[in-house]
Amino acid sequence: MAGKQVIVVGAGLGGLSAAISLAQEGYAVTVHDKNAQIGGKLNVLKQRGYSFDLGPSIFTLPHIFERLFTRSGKRLADYVPLRSLRPHWRNFFTDGTIVDLDPEPERMAAEARKVGEDPANVERFLRYSGELYDLVNAGYFEQGLDTPADFARFYGLWKFPKFDLLRTMHGGVKRFLRTRYLQDVFDYFIKYVGSSAYHAPAFMNCLPTIQFRYDLWYVDGGLYQLAVGLGRLMAELGIEVRLNSEVTEIRRQGARVTGLVAQGQFYPADIVVSNMEVIPAYQRLLGEDERFLRTLERFAPACSGLVLELGLDRQYPQLAHHNFFFSEHQREHFQTVFRKGRLPDDPTIYLVAASKTDPTVAPPGCDGLKVLPHIPPIDEARPLGREDYLAFKERVVDKLERMGLTDLRQHVVFEHCWTPLDIREQYYSNRGAIYGVVSDRWKNLAFKAPKQSTRYPNLFFVGGSVNPGGGMPMVVLCGQNVAKQVVAWDRRDAGSQTLSSHGS
Ligand SMILES: Cc1cc2nc3c(=O)[nH]c(=O)nc-3n(C[C@H](O)[C@H](O)[C@H](O)COP(=O)(O)OP(=O)(O)OC[C@H]3O[C@@H](n4cnc5c(N)ncnc54)[C@H](O)[C@@H]3O)c2cc1C
Repeated sequence: MAGKQVIVVGAGLGGLSAAISLAQEGYAVTVHDKNAQIGGKLNVLKQRGYSFDLGPSIFTLPHIFERLFTRSGKRLADYVPLRSLRPHWRNFFTDGTIVDLDPEPERMAAEARKVGEDPANVERFLRYSGELYDLVNAGYFEQGLDTPADFARFYGLWKFPKFDLLRTMHGGVKRFLRTRYLQDVFDYFIKYVGSSAYHAPAFMNCLPTIQFRYDLWYVDGGLYQLAVGLGRLMAELGIEVRLNSEVTEIRRQGARVTGLVAQGQFYPADIVVSNMEVIPAYQRLLGEDERFLRTLERFAPACSGLVLELGLDRQYPQLAHHNFFFSEHQREHFQTVFRKGRLPDDPTIYLVAASKTDPTVAPPGCDGLKVLPHIPPIDEARPLGREDYLAFKERVVDKLERMGLTDLRQHVVFEHCWTPLDIREQYYSNRGAIYGVVSDRWKNLAFKAPKQSTRYPNLFFVGGSVNPGGGMPMVVLCGQNVAKQVVAWDRRDAGSQTLSSHGS
């Protein structure tokens, strides 16, 4: 493998993880990104003394990131300052009820009792979640399984019932939890993959274990420090990074890709790894025909979002670091966003106030809020304009004011807002999706596209559009797994070329 050239298209977390893992295997790696900085959706906005995470703000499963460092004999902690958060989330309901999620059993039991839920139900639900996590983690996550056939080989058919395949995620939640409050909260773990609890398969109930067993983390100074830490590691590994370098074409010869064109220049490569999502890459970089693109339709985009940053001249003491303001009718919220493809009247809203734990991200005595309701990806047949999204933004602020952030508008001294149109423009994601491919029981049973191209064997994909899907730890795991696939394929390929040259 030594000396072989790999080019990675995109410096999102998936691309960075693949680049680091392949460099650790001895490949010469170059990364191109169209933007001026690395990190992709892991992005930051600094304005007037406020610092906002423009993308992810919940950091989970740090042990997956740690592997990138240990393989080079280093420690994540020396690059990225981490601390765990309490409570994990604060949840606000329209009737004034507030309930916290806390991984300490005693505190979680007290919170459950507060809303009339028997703590034993929560314990039973978390046991069920843990079993699902162990099952999904053993094969789908850690082995990087890509297809139902891989699943059948690894797990054996007899294990399929353990995936609780006949239920939706909400169906799994309802088996254990009786109150609407905790049903809504645990349903909303589907946020991690931008999908609907009423349409995702029940094994997505593995998600709470990610938090309850492995904790929820914050990076001091804001999550972008994670990209900074990975950037340092890449420099130490000698990975070349070309920023402001948009890739416009992947070239091929027969069934192989030969390199790519960025800023009008051709860069030859033995292997290409695309962190640009599968559908846009096949469409825009390879110009594949409609017939082929139709075979990818089941890999439909996850939700998009309205990403609203508000710098305030005051603090709201009732907020925790992570907050959720629930829709009065969560089923309708999911139905509107994921089936009707409309902007919801009464969305569930995620709100981050990192200033609660990190005084460096807002001026003294002030909160900086990131507000993120999940909304449908762009619908090319019925496109919405910026003014539609801005009208929706007003509904979101109205709801926050109604639910206790009194006079919020009057305290805004700085505002920034990205719609799905901006998100698509910024990251070239499919229809402005923020978590890659949707996890939907009927569309794809939560499978995403495979990591190796079905058309060109030396073209691989990494990130939220391929297995296991979106979310920071998952795309980082994907980068590690794609590197293993590249190495295995490259060895087989080198072996078969030696055989054929001996034969000729
Ligand atoms: C608002 C928001 C909130 C989120 N919250 C969380 C959270 O709290 N926790 C969590 O774990 N996850 C969260 N996520 C999801 C998480 O950010 C993503 O799943 C993950 O970062 C995606 O990484 P990626 O490698 O798949 O792709 P991306 O980050 O999208 O990276 C793709 C990169 O490829 C580049 N690119 C694309 N096409 C080209 C081209 N032709 N030429 C050159 N470069 C190109 C883009 O510029 C981009 O840098 C959130 C995402 C958003 C947007």
